[in-house]
Amino acid sequence: METKKCRQCGVDKYLPEYAKGRRVCKACRYLQIKKWNAANPDRVEVYSIRGQEHQEKKRHRSPAAYRKYRREYYWKNRDRIKQYHNDYNRRQAVEKWKILNVDNQPGE
Ligand SMILES: [Zn+2]
Repeated sequence: METKKCRQCGVDKYLPEYAKGRRVCKACRYLQIKKWNAANPDRVEVYSIRGQEHQEKKRHRSPAAYRKYRREYYWKNRDRIKQYHNDYNRRQAVEKWKILNVDNQPGE
């Protein structure tokens, strides 16, 4: 199984130990969030509760407006989203290359 080095603790861990696209393992990420939450208790509430409720309400009240909002979100963040997909595609390409390379190994 493939491993990758966590940027936080520097330990080589299997890929399922990471959230998608993250360079920090889940354990470190969890600690980071916990630390941040402890340092920013007022903002945690705003993000976790108000944020989720707000999104849900928006979606229920008017699905069309919600879709519009999502579309606008995409356009505002398209560079970042594209970058994410590029990274994903590159990872897929590397995986494909590895498989092909194994098949083309000389010998036998
Ligand atoms: Zn880590």
